[in-house]
Amino acid sequence: MTDENQEALIECQCGKCALTIADKAVTLFLRCGCVDCRQALWWGHKHGGAKPEPLPRLFYLRSDIVDVAGKAYMKAYKLRRTGDSTRIYCSQCYSLLGVDHPSYQNNVFLNFPDHCTNHGVLSRALSAYLSISDYSTTVGPAPTDDAPLFTSTDFEPERQRFLSLPDVARSFKEPSGPPSGVTLGSLIENLGAVTILNLAKGDMG
Ligand SMILES: [Zn+2]
Ligand SMILES: [Zn+2]
Repeated sequence: MTDENQEALIECQCGKCALTIADKAVTLFLRCGCVDCRQALWWGHKHGGAKPEPLPRLFYLRSDIVDVAGKAYMKAYKLRRTGDSTRIYCSQCYSLLGVDHPSYQNNVFLNFPDHCTNHGVLSRALSAYLSISDYSTTVGPAPTDDAPLFTSTDFEPERQRFLSLPDVARSFKEPSGPPSGVTLGSLIENLGAVTILNLAKGDMG
């Protein structure tokens, strides 16, 4: 039996969509400077979603969803056919509910708490700044937190340094057991065909 106090609720801004997550504890907190995070958040903003920060806050939760409300309003998107990330937006308010990526291995999923309402416990120290190769002070303010910066994860030594951070290693791994509900990956499969936006890389429209 699930202890209800352990659960986190993620809702879209218009209230049509909600995900109940089995474990409210955040496993990892990152800030990402990559152009794809920025492009996906700007795309949502253009359709009515919240305005993104230049270095958005990325929180990871166990990919174990015990209740889904408003599935008919959820739609899955990729920026491009070759894109690794699949993002679930509310088709009414364009809140971004969750992101799946192969490196998350269905153990965790990514949530942007500034682009939905996340009632989870978001108290976790920043583990790293990611993809700073796509970021500069012409995009937004300089990073200020005392956390390691990663230029990219394109090169193996840097990728390994990133993956060996304790919170990252605990998050991006095979799940230790089956979920009590469904993973974000299986929710995406359940939503039907993923819409490919075919946006040119870096084009903020
Ligand atoms: Zn909505
Ligand atoms: Zn990113």
